[in-house]
Amino acid sequence: MHELSIAEAIANKVRERAAGRPVGAVAIQVGHFRQIVPDALEFCWTMVTDATGLEGCRLEIEQIPATVGCQDCDAVSTLDVPILMCLSCESTNVTLLTGQEFMVVSLEILEV
Ligand SMILES: [Zn+2]
Repeated sequence: MHELSIAEAIANKVRERAAGRPVGAVAIQVGHFRQIVPDALEFCWTMVTDATGLEGCRLEIEQIPATVGCQDCDAVSTLDVPILMCLSCESTNVTLLTGQEFMVVSLEILEV
């Protein structure tokens, strides 16, 4: 499952950064083009964290819309489907601005 491997990747990064300290919450950003279903990711997150010493750690998912900038008419379009195209002039001469993000933005480290 796609979301399961993502959840494992997040857990690995979190463990690395937390270095053994308890973590209350993790904030991540995922781009729309990553095709992640937030509910599925949260479910997988619970599974992964239950087995890895991150029990109870909340996952806060911020979804970043996919946007492209047009080289022909300078319009910026927000895309719902992963087809790189300007919605103003239908040019495919566009640059992806956002939508591929996948990163851990912050950790909430608990005081012990
Ligand atoms: Zn255009």
